[in-house]
Amino acid sequence: MLYPDPTFILLALAAFAYLGILLVVIRTGRLKEYSIRLLLAFNLLSLAWTVIQGLLRLQQLNNIQGFDIFALERLRVYGLVGVTVLFFHLTRAFQGKQNSAWLWWVVGVIFLSAGIVLYENFFRLAEQFVILNSPVLSRWLIAFTILVIGWAVYLFSSVWMTLGLYRRSTTPLHRNRNKYWSAAVILAVVGQSLVLSQNILFGNLLQLLACLAVTYATLTFHLPDVRLAVRKMTSYLIMTLLTVALYTGGFYAAQLFFQTSQGYSPILIGIVLSVAIAILFNPLLEVVKRFVDRLISGGRLDVHHALSEYSMSISSVLDLEKLASVVVSVISDVMETTSGALVTITQEPDTEDGKPGSIIFRPISGTGQVQPDIRLAGDGPVVAYLQREHRPLTQYEIDLLPRFKSMDPAERECLSALKMDVYVPVYAKDQWRGVLALGAKASRDIYFDEDLSLLQTLADQTAVALENARLYDDLKQRNSENERLNLELHEANDQLSRLDKAKTDFINIASHELRTPLTQIIGYNDMVGEMIRDNSLEPSAGISMTESVRKAARRLEEIVETMFEVTKLDTRTLELMSSPVSVASFVTTAIDKWNKGIEERKQTISVRGLANLPTIMADGRRMTQVFSHLIQNAVKNTPDGGAIRITGRVIEDPGKDGGPMKQMIEVVVADTGTGINAEDLERIFEKFYRVGSVLLHSTGSTKFKGAGPGLGLTIARGIVEAHGGRIWAESSGYDEENCPGSRFHVLLPVNYIENQAAPQPENGSVREMVH
Ligand code: ADP
Repeated sequence: MLYPDPTFILLALAAFAYLGILLVVIRTGRLKEYSIRLLLAFNLLSLAWTVIQGLLRLQQLNNIQGFDIFALERLRVYGLVGVTVLFFHLTRAFQGKQNSAWLWWVVGVIFLSAGIVLYENFFRLAEQFVILNSPVLSRWLIAFTILVIGWAVYLFSSVWMTLGLYRRSTTPLHRNRNKYWSAAVILAVVGQSLVLSQNILFGNLLQLLACLAVTYATLTFHLPDVRLAVRKMTSYLIMTLLTVALYTGGFYAAQLFFQTSQGYSPILIGIVLSVAIAILFNPLLEVVKRFVDRLISGGRLDVHHALSEYSMSISSVLDLEKLASVVVSVISDVMETTSGALVTITQEPDTEDGKPGSIIFRPISGTGQVQPDIRLAGDGPVVAYLQREHRPLTQYEIDLLPRFKSMDPAERECLSALKMDVYVPVYAKDQWRGVLALGAKASRDIYFDEDLSLLQTLADQTAVALENARLYDDLKQRNSENERLNLELHEANDQLSRLDKAKTDFINIASHELRTPLTQIIGYNDMVGEMIRDNSLEPSAGISMTESVRKAARRLEEIVETMFEVTKLDTRTLELMSSPVSVASFVTTAIDKWNKGIEERKQTISVRGLANLPTIMADGRRMTQVFSHLIQNAVKNTPDGGAIRITGRVIEDPGKDGGPMKQMIEVVVADTGTGINAEDLERIFEKFYRVGSVLLHSTGSTKFKGAGPGLGLTIARGIVEAHGGRIWAESSGYDEENCPGSRFHVLLPVNYIENQAAPQPENGSVREMVH
């Protein structure tokens, strides 16, 4: 007859419990999975460990002959290390870590076998290690220490990993799952420490609970919320206490008041109290639950109120961004969510090999911001779920369920970067149209089933509003596209009419400009002919008339030459003959050409700052041409008595597009003339462009407001740009009375490298020749 020892009874019961757990693990039929096989091994070893301890206990109590109590003791320590190594690997598997597991296995086996070899003394070592004739350490103590260190290392690593994961987990569902593991770790640490310190009863009890928690957490996907469990337990505890208080209080009061009265029966009182409690129980339970809920999480949802407020708020919103912010703010009011987004989806066309096209997720956050698009595979598991399941999908499911294992890693990363807890599909006419994505709750609670079904209802209500908003958005986009096209059309029209004007101007100018000298030539020629026939031609008159013919012919030649220059610009056949030249020299040559006209018009011309400028590489003849045009224009557009100023300096210029600084020479030709309107400042550089009516112009080369063919500035710009420079005009506007004047800036590079590709001028270009 064995002594009924509670420790032994508990160990026996624990062994049966382990058998039960093993049965459950086997019945899952998932033995192919690494974590399930580990779980099986873990529980098997725990069972063996418990059996060893049971036998040990039996031996300690009964001292049966032939049982080696020390062998059992040693087995117990080996078992402890083995269980802990397995627990560590289970923790890794639970966290989804697969990499370099073998290394941890090897280290574990080394610890265990080193301990066993020393403990069992396979190599027949001395019992005591002796240094300098005094025994220092006993063999078994070293063996025991190695095993305990192994145990501690593996247990500590499990604790460390669990803590790390707990700290990293952001979503409440993951945190909830980790809570179960944390509980298992705490139970294992305390239980095993107790066993080591010989507290077998409690140690094994806690170890069994740890095994239960580990098995439950590994096998179950939808783990009940720990807070919910605490809430329920608190409610029931309060209810039990209340019931007991009511019952005993009732009895006591009945005793006090009715004991002396006739017909007093405790049974009757008992029945009355039971009936009262039975009637009161349910309403009371509700009150208690609500009280506990408020105490723990600050109140429950009022579904009806939430629904009506939601549909009212979103019914009139047409703008997508606005809709997103209204939807998210109403839901966060109801569920205390911290963030959210309304996601619109667009399906790309199917691929050539028949695969469904990708789905473009465009999340619009609650703050109304459109976040970067996410591309989801059209035949991926997330899309398949949202298209068909008609119920919310949690990030937790995406992270852990096997059906999402095949997901593209980039897709997975993009979705987790959104930091959303739940995705609720929105359907319109059974077609998947969008998603309502919600972040964690402020309370750090998980989304309970009732929350998820409310969210699905809200998402269903969003469908119409989302459709309207999408249509409206479409319309808005089309509208802005139309506006853009209109603008482009307008610009094209403008350009066209300017081209048309240029063409007409060209015909007018060409005929006007060419006809005047031609008429003069014909006229003088007729006169000379007539006078010769009459014999009335005086030599002096003849000379003056032929001089006039020569002038007119010269003018004709000039006009044709200018037109030819522009054609060269257009056909890119203008040649540059670059050599080192001083700016002062070509500017002075250009001025000399117009000195007579300036004198006639009583204008003054001054030059400042050119003498000290560095020599530049340029085609001196072409440069003279540029300044000749600029000075001629200044003379023509400045009234009699006006002033023309030419200044020069060296500047640092970042170029048109703000590139690196370059040293440039800036020459400004300023006048006190009529000025130019802002809208004409650029256009005057276009071919044949002239300000004002073409026919108002006369052909005089220095006359006030005298015109040329509208090509001077075009040529000037072509030449300057061919030298790597820039030219532009500045003026405060056209005013013939007040004459605000104009300034023409010419920038030329100091170190222009001749053989570099010349920038293409807008109105034509120049072929570079290196000399
Ligand atoms: P044009 O042969 O007519 O002078 P340009 O190309 O040289 O052609 O000049 C184009 C137009 O720019 C001129 O018709 C004139 O109206 C305007 N313009 C050029 N220089 C000046 C200036 N210094 N002041 C005012 N207007 C100017």
